[in-house]
Order: sequence, then C-alpha cells, then structure tokens
Amino acid sequence: MTTAAPLSPAWGVDHLPTLLAHCRRCGTYTFPSSAWGCRECGDDTLDKVPMPQTPILRNFITLHGDVVPGLAPPVVVGEVELAPGVVEEALIAVVDESQLKLDMPMQAIGADPTDTQRGLRFRPKEASS
Ligand SMILES: [Zn+2]
Repeated sequence: MTTAAPLSPAWGVDHLPTLLAHCRRCGTYTFPSSAWGCRECGDDTLDKVPMPQTPILRNFITLHGDVVPGLAPPVVVGEVELAPGVVEEALIAVVDESQLKLDMPMQAIGADPTDTQRGLRFRPKEASS
C-alpha cells in the first residue's frame, strides 16, 4: 500500500513552508500559497512559487508562559520575512534567543512529526563554508 502521508516529517525546504502564491496580475506575493486571492489586488490568478528570497528574521521574542497545548515553554517566536511585504510569525528552532540577531538569514525546516501546529518553523541559516 502506497498511501501518501500528508504530514510526513520529510517535508522541508521544497514543501509547504517555502511556497507562496504569486499574483500574475500585480506581482504581489501572498502567504500561504493556498490563499484564494491576491492580498493586494484580490485577483485569483495565483501561481504557487518557491520563496523568492532567503527568509529574514525581522523580530523575535521568547514566550515563557503556556502558548498552545503541546508546546512546552519557553519557546522562541519570530517574525520572518518570506518575500517583500510578507512577514509571518513562526516558531524559531533554537535553544534560546541568544543565537539570534535581527535581520539574520533564516532557513525553513520541516515540522516535528508530533507538532500539531502549522509546521512553519525556521532556524538560522548555516553559513555556507
Ligand atoms: Zn495581485
């Protein structure tokens, strides 16, 4: 039996977290790629495209209280720019925020298989050396 597992932990850089919708009419990016229409002009001629840029960490905060069931505090949450004008809140996969700097490049990673949340999370992009 070869039924596809929709929440396979193997999804990663090329799957949902990196896809946006790109408007054929005005060129605006919209997240998520399943959006019904362009957030700028409302047109529904949207193409699913990869993230057009390296995600950039625009802000971050550590939450010490209970956030959602299944997430043990403290957790680091960041605002990550996925495309020009598209900033999404996401979990940042670091031990603590001392590893983070504003405007640092990030890397989308797949969700933990036990994660019942949206699965969009990031970690600092490793320097290519
Ligand atoms: Zn548009």
